[in-house]
Amino acid sequence: MPESKKTTLKEKTIKKETETAGKTTRKKTAEKPADPAPARPKRAPRKKPEPKAEPAAAPALPEEPQAPALPQPRRSVAFIGSECYPFVKTGGLGDVMYALPRALSRLNCDVKVILPKYRCIPEKYQEKMVYRGSFMMDLCSDGRAFHVGIMEYVWDGVVYDFIDNEEFFSYGNPYTNLVDDIPKFCYFSKAALAALNFMDWVPDIIHCHDWQAALVPVFLRTLFAGTPVDSAKVMLTIHNLRFQGIYNIPTIRYWTNLPDYVFNKDALTQEWVDANMLKGGLTYSNMITTVSNTYAGEIQTPFYGENLDAHLRYHAGKLRGIVNGIDVELWDSSTDKLLAAQYDLSNVIEKKKENKLALQEQLGLERDEGKFVIGLISRLTDQKGLDLVNSILPSLIDGNTQVVILGTGDKRYEDSFRGFEWTYKGSVCSNIMYDEGRAHNIYAGADALLVPSLFEPCGLTQLIAMRYGTVPIVRETGGLKDTVLPYNQYINEGNGFTFDRYEDGLLLDAINRAKTLYFTDRIRWDDMVRRDMAKDVSWENSAKHYRALYLELKP
Ligand code: ADP
Repeated sequence: MPESKKTTLKEKTIKKETETAGKTTRKKTAEKPADPAPARPKRAPRKKPEPKAEPAAAPALPEEPQAPALPQPRRSVAFIGSECYPFVKTGGLGDVMYALPRALSRLNCDVKVILPKYRCIPEKYQEKMVYRGSFMMDLCSDGRAFHVGIMEYVWDGVVYDFIDNEEFFSYGNPYTNLVDDIPKFCYFSKAALAALNFMDWVPDIIHCHDWQAALVPVFLRTLFAGTPVDSAKVMLTIHNLRFQGIYNIPTIRYWTNLPDYVFNKDALTQEWVDANMLKGGLTYSNMITTVSNTYAGEIQTPFYGENLDAHLRYHAGKLRGIVNGIDVELWDSSTDKLLAAQYDLSNVIEKKKENKLALQEQLGLERDEGKFVIGLISRLTDQKGLDLVNSILPSLIDGNTQVVILGTGDKRYEDSFRGFEWTYKGSVCSNIMYDEGRAHNIYAGADALLVPSLFEPCGLTQLIAMRYGTVPIVRETGGLKDTVLPYNQYINEGNGFTFDRYEDGLLLDAINRAKTLYFTDRIRWDDMVRRDMAKDVSWENSAKHYRALYLELKP
């Protein structure tokens, strides 16, 4: 793609754009940015066919291999969300926003990803962004307007448009605290829609993600009603229902200027006093999806419903579950440069031992390929079942088992894991940090990966683990239940070890079943390692399901 002239938006002529009640009345011609983003390469004009002479009988050529036909019809989709690897990622949402658009573009979808242009996006990406234009947008109920800049980066078949605003996105991290985050994402949701109108790019589907983009459907059907973008259908995906964007009604009313009627109990209002951005988004979406079938069912129950179970039951007719995949090029043990020894299905058993020894050496654990190494890679929060791990960890340490933890989060877990490392030196290593490289080394070097979550919408770590031939030990909830088939010793089938109720004794039992198989029947253990590696955890399948839903919305 062409190199951009590095442009500070402030230097640009700020186009005055009047937006009455959110309806963009853009003056079309004179104010087009002087240096608009590169248009898609235009096709060369077709040459008139030369009058042909009778062809001489040519020798038959071997047939060229045909590229597989793309699924029809082509659909255009705008992804709107708050994070996307490799620009900015704090969790699974960032992975999905990266991998799903790429998989969809291989299935004949034209995808644009709209993201905030946070200051923390690495310079190497920022400097490649191209200025697409800017305008002023009314936002608040007192008429306060804000600048919206659009910076574009095209990469691998996907167009990334970054919404630029110094006031909202100049912090180090994407999320700070609700006081700042609520106005930030009110602004972002509206700016994303206004940017689509501004760019004259009206997609078939607008696909928004989590509470940060949940006001998009609400804005779309109210303040943007009758504007070009209103012809799109809108899908909202719940990646984690725990986070909903709840704040008092006057604040959200101020920062959105949404009409009074959306602040009713069937849309934004919750418990009569607060406004819930996710709840409003669910009401106004044409389709709701979440990231596994089991989670789609669970969130309609009071235990998992996070106070929205009744609302979700009401909207159950448009609620679906599609399990996530992982990027199998990014997570490929046969090309992964971060590993001590790369491997594939043919040599996984031998090479994983080399990776285990390297991991033990790197982390100061006793070097012994015979030890059973359990990994845990996670945000350290209550969701992830860490109280269960805390309660049973001492029972695991038997001289044959090592535990490697990688994560950051709640102080009480960071401290307890540091404490275990100190108590069980040589057997436990707690890496209280966020480190992609170390995560790769653990996925490759561990024998098993622990995911005992209290709830888990989909979970990516168990998928990555399987891809690297590491056996998952998981609680049967959400996506963990949908992706890890429990081991069945009678028919030698399954991908991992599972337990159902959220009890420390059951977690310990599942780990002990894994250890028993590992130490007493290595042939069957190795079979499972190979089965896991061969399992299809790619995005392709999931992307096909999303595409089918897009077609259901826009046949
Ligand atoms: P969640 O989105 O709830 O945090 P997921 O399992 O969906 O959990 O995704 C977690 C992703 O973040 C995985 O790609 C995992 O490898 C990565 N990850 C989590 N913690 C760390 C860490 N401390 N260092 C490196 N990667 C991490």
